[in-house]
Amino acid sequence: MTAGNDYIIIFDTLLNAFGPQRWWPSDTADETVMGAILTQNVAWTNVEKALHHLKKNNLYTLKDILEISNEKLADLILPARFSRQKAVYLKEFSLFLQKYDYDYTNLKQEFDLKELRKKLLEIKGVGNETADSILLYAFMLPVFVIDVYTKRVFFRIGLSPDENIGYAELQNLFHLNLKRDVGLFNEYHALIVKLCKDTCLKKNPKCADCPLNQICLKKGF
Ligand code: SF4
Repeated sequence: MTAGNDYIIIFDTLLNAFGPQRWWPSDTADETVMGAILTQNVAWTNVEKALHHLKKNNLYTLKDILEISNEKLADLILPARFSRQKAVYLKEFSLFLQKYDYDYTNLKQEFDLKELRKKLLEIKGVGNETADSILLYAFMLPVFVIDVYTKRVFFRIGLSPDENIGYAELQNLFHLNLKRDVGLFNEYHALIVKLCKDTCLKKNPKCADCPLNQICLKKGF
């Protein structure tokens, strides 16, 4: 494939095949942030269990979790694994938001996207993917989230030169080839995750069942 509007053709094809995914699966911006941190290196089902434990203990917000000890928090989020580490990360993020009265709108007004991204990356436990997930799904800012699924699919399709391409390099391709639109980026990332979980598997992808079968170069296998 060549670049340009191939990015939109892929999006339209996936959307037609799978329908809207309605991400992020959370009720509030705080819950999105907690999910983005808890999901590091674990499946979403583990995150759901951890969030359920928090809610059962009336811990609904990032402000709430500052009221309990790190040990108690780690116990509650145990299903999300690396729980002691993630308890620290959640509290660090909460302390960051506390400086801005937990007001996401205020933060968006005070900093532009680049500055805010830099601030998030300074928080312990927040890397590129977590920062961008939070920017897109909690702050609703137009930044494309890159993950291993995106790297896999776009290499196989033929739009990325290497499955191990750098985060910023692949993100730049999306930013160059798509309109910077929150709704589009939100849905596109969710559709890529859906494709990779069900069809474009790491080993033995189900190409015969894939909506991208006709346009994919199937590079790498
Ligand atoms: S055709 Fe095969 S390799 Fe290409 S995106 Fe679909 S499942 Fe993945």
